Amino acid sequence: MAGALNTPRRVALLGATGSIGTSTLDVIARHPDRFQVQALSAHSDVEKLVELCRQFRPACAVIADAARHAQLRDGLRAAGLATAALAGAQALVDIASDPESDTVVAAIVGAAGMASTLAAARKGKRLLLANKESVVLAGQVLVQAARESGAQILPIDSEHNAIFQCLPADGGRGGVRRLLLTASGGPFRGRSRQSLEKVTPDQACAHPKWVMGRKISVDSATLMNKGLEVIEAHHLFGLPAAAIEVLVHPQSIVHSLVDYVDGSVLAQLGNPDMRTALAHGLAWPERIDSGVAPLDLPALARLDFEAPDLGAFPCLALAYAALATGGTAPAILNAANEVAVASFLEGRLPFLGIPALLEATLAAIPAEPAGDLDVLMDCDQRARRQARELLNEMERA
Ligand code: NAD
Ligand code: MG
Repeated sequence: MAGALNTPRRVALLGATGSIGTSTLDVIARHPDRFQVQALSAHSDVEKLVELCRQFRPACAVIADAARHAQLRDGLRAAGLATAALAGAQALVDIASDPESDTVVAAIVGAAGMASTLAAARKGKRLLLANKESVVLAGQVLVQAARESGAQILPIDSEHNAIFQCLPADGGRGGVRRLLLTASGGPFRGRSRQSLEKVTPDQACAHPKWVMGRKISVDSATLMNKGLEVIEAHHLFGLPAAAIEVLVHPQSIVHSLVDYVDGSVLAQLGNPDMRTALAHGLAWPERIDSGVAPLDLPALARLDFEAPDLGAFPCLALAYAALATGGTAPAILNAANEVAVASFLEGRLPFLGIPALLEATLAAIPAEPAGDLDVLMDCDQRARRQARELLNEMERA
């Protein structure tokens, strides 16, 4: 196993320019003896990608937007870098599969990360999994692929990382009564549904505890993020929905808990900073410095917990319902949510239109048995088309 005195771990980081990508590189930069960046990817920000290449000297860089291939190639050349310039969706899969790297950080947002995340799982990589939408879309396929190839999935979502740390290390579930996923409650915690009618994208993205990309920030504001996380936990930890509960905890210090039948409850605590989970995943089973400040409990003085308000935030209930329905329902939910959130961020859909669009899409497309990945991907596309049509109808009404 790679450690400080052995060969460094070689890391492919997909979604390098995002919030998780930035935090990952911050941890990596603290341990140049342990980690070497093999590949970096970004969606469209060539300038930032070239800057990261200058800093981390990867063997290859991928710009997902293929129209910017020449711009990336010229930028790398102008910077005097030997980094190979690649572009397009297939190149993302290629760097996730490349035998030159042993670790893949899946930090692309949305189902756009599906193919590369799955490729890493199929190739037996250490997979640091932040891209939760892939798990919601095709969790069973992903977990099965990892099992067959021997890929080690290390959850990066802070709640799932906490649960991973609190579950028995042998992978057994004996004695586990429930998982308790904590939720900060987002920027609108305590508000009535009616009072949310006119909230803006900037208000929704002003998360009280975490600085994150805009899509997950809106998901946190609707509580859909927690709904996606319930589905994610079901797949990653193999427990039924009935054993996965959500607990609102506004301080975001307790990242999640595991309740055992003997009455023991194990929790993982820490300051709200994704570098803890990333350092855990990068070094596991060792522990390394992440740059996160030690927890000062006397300064915090108190930790609060409350039940989620499903009336004001119906997205969480929609996610539980999709999980109960099973088959393609979670894939439909995820696709409709991606369309709804993008439309809200563009100012085309009001905040309360998000759950409305999800419900309408789920009602319009009957769930089917999930079958294989093709069925799920096809369903993802169909749900996106349906959601866009419904959105147009809502706009005309
Ligand atoms: P972000 O928007 O900050 O970054 C997303 C990254 O993905 C960027 O590098 C972007 O260039 C790339 N990307 C976007 N669309 C793409 C496409 N179509 N093709 C290829 N690349 C594309 O998002 P983020 O907050 O870093 O979140 C990334 C993932 O991690 C999400 O799935 C999110 O739910 C999950 N996550 C994030 C946090 C957090 O604190 N930010 C916490 C838990 C889980
Ligand atoms: Mg989370």
